[in-house]
Amino acid sequence: MKVSQLLNPTLREVPAEAEVISHQLMLRAGFIRKAAAGIYTYLPLGWRVIRKIEQIVREEMDIKGGQEVMLPIMQPAELWKESGRWDVYGPEMFRLRDRHNREFCLGPTHEEIITDLVRSEVRSYKQLPLLLYQIQNKYRDERRPRFGLMRGREFIMKDLYSFDKDVAGLQESYRKMYQAYERIFNRCGLTFRAVEADAGAIGGSGGTHEFMVLADSGEAAVVFCQECDYAANVEKAECLPRAVLKDDTLKGLTGEINTPGTKTIDQVADFLNIKKTALIKTMVFKGDEKYFLVLVRGDREINEIKVNNALGPFVNLRMADPEEVLSILNCEPGFVGPIGIDEKIFIAVDLEVAEMESAVCGANKKDYHLVNIKCGQDFIPSKVVDLRMVVPGEPCPKCQGKLQEARGIEVGQVFNLGTKYSESLKATYLDDKGNEQYCLMGCYGIGVSRTMAAAIEQNYDDNGIIWPMPIAPYHCIIVPVSLKDEEVVTTAEALYKELTALGVETVLDDRDDRAGVKFKDADLVGYPLRITIGKKTLAEGKVELNQRKTGNVELIKVEDVCAQVKTMVDGTL
Ligand code: ATP
Ligand code: MG
Repeated sequence: MKVSQLLNPTLREVPAEAEVISHQLMLRAGFIRKAAAGIYTYLPLGWRVIRKIEQIVREEMDIKGGQEVMLPIMQPAELWKESGRWDVYGPEMFRLRDRHNREFCLGPTHEEIITDLVRSEVRSYKQLPLLLYQIQNKYRDERRPRFGLMRGREFIMKDLYSFDKDVAGLQESYRKMYQAYERIFNRCGLTFRAVEADAGAIGGSGGTHEFMVLADSGEAAVVFCQECDYAANVEKAECLPRAVLKDDTLKGLTGEINTPGTKTIDQVADFLNIKKTALIKTMVFKGDEKYFLVLVRGDREINEIKVNNALGPFVNLRMADPEEVLSILNCEPGFVGPIGIDEKIFIAVDLEVAEMESAVCGANKKDYHLVNIKCGQDFIPSKVVDLRMVVPGEPCPKCQGKLQEARGIEVGQVFNLGTKYSESLKATYLDDKGNEQYCLMGCYGIGVSRTMAAAIEQNYDDNGIIWPMPIAPYHCIIVPVSLKDEEVVTTAEALYKELTALGVETVLDDRDDRAGVKFKDADLVGYPLRITIGKKTLAEGKVELNQRKTGNVELIKVEDVCAQVKTMVDGTL
């Protein structure tokens, strides 16, 4: 491809709307343009990157026995009503009607459609396992579409669905996909980590792992052990109760003490001159129509996902607002505690609180706290369970090693669904004894467009993108420094032909521009290799070979450069 012909509108200025690096650089390097919030057009170079990621994904899915299909984007509401998700999916789903007023949605995901296909076409255990996948646009009316391709409303996903006859089969399919994902993100040249995650609303019986590209701009926080292979999303990471903590500062005191105006944990700790670790934080939650208390140690954060898993699942879970607290407990939120309340109110207690020897909690009376309180003695918990957020530096739940924190971008997820959809949609098969059984399902997604963004978040510098070779739009760019010198121009043309013939994806910058402009664009776009042809070096029969990633520059004989480039490209694919 010749740059003069390429639709590659680069920008010098950082577009104001773009907050994160990948979004800024994709706009500046002329890879994408916005059509509407969260909806983008891919320009030629951007689309080439997408196609490369797709191809890697496709190859690895096929190796594992995946069969590619194409499911409809537009899906009838009936199927979603059958699975029970039409009403719970909420405003994230784009809904529409046809001329006969029939309801449809634009697929945010495809469990319903694929299960419908399999229930009609699969009869016998002999047809299983079945691994079906597609690479296609998904539609989600995200509350906050932002960060460019990172969180779009229209985005490209690979989704594979596995159908097995038993748990062992499902585990095998899950393992295959997990391995395929490791290979895919390795082949893309990315640094990533698979972490245990929360199963969330898709539900299902088994586990789930998220594949996280590690980058400081990542929306997700993950922890991993420095000693063993434990790694988890912070939402999921298990917490061990810490050693029992005593706070001697309140020794001798018991009962109710006046703590005027101390509504927050910090204020109470300051007022009583005790550590926050000696306090119990009591929060009132509302899960659907039910109110309950959640107790964690004063210095801890409540993990709402754990609360929902332990006490729900609820369709709506939130903290009760002050008016609600007042009407339920007859007390301001800052002074709520587990003692002396209506027996019907459920008290969920974090593991750590159950081990506190002597604690301070709210007295359910304005401006008062209770001291020397012990769970199990002074109040009876309804349930004792892990309810808090993990903190970096804590012991690993698996080996007691130290947990370290990192930020990640979720590029993929593997999910054990069990019989959730096969039961609701009645996808069954006949086993070898002729009995009807539910298929066991798994679903496995990769955000293809998000992977492109994540690759940039992990690989850039002040001058632009630094593509890993396997997903670069082109491998190499040839820059003739000036078009005035005939030998420079003919050498550039000759090298371009030779490299192209060798299968090296090459671009020739044939624009009549200053060399500086061409270099800037080449760096911004992020071609992994650049051959620079100047009059001076050419007089000695040499050209310059520049590596974008290392900045390494070599002078190489004209006749050798193509073979060397070819070797470098092949070595990294
Ligand atoms: P998130 O928690 O980031 O919203 P999700 O859990 O809803 O993602 P899945 O349903 O597991 O996402 O979808 C599979 C993959 O699709 C994700 O791992 C992610 O890479 C990608 N993805 C999900 N939502 C978006 C989006 N709005 N824009 C781009 N990619 C997305
Ligand atoms: Mg997910």
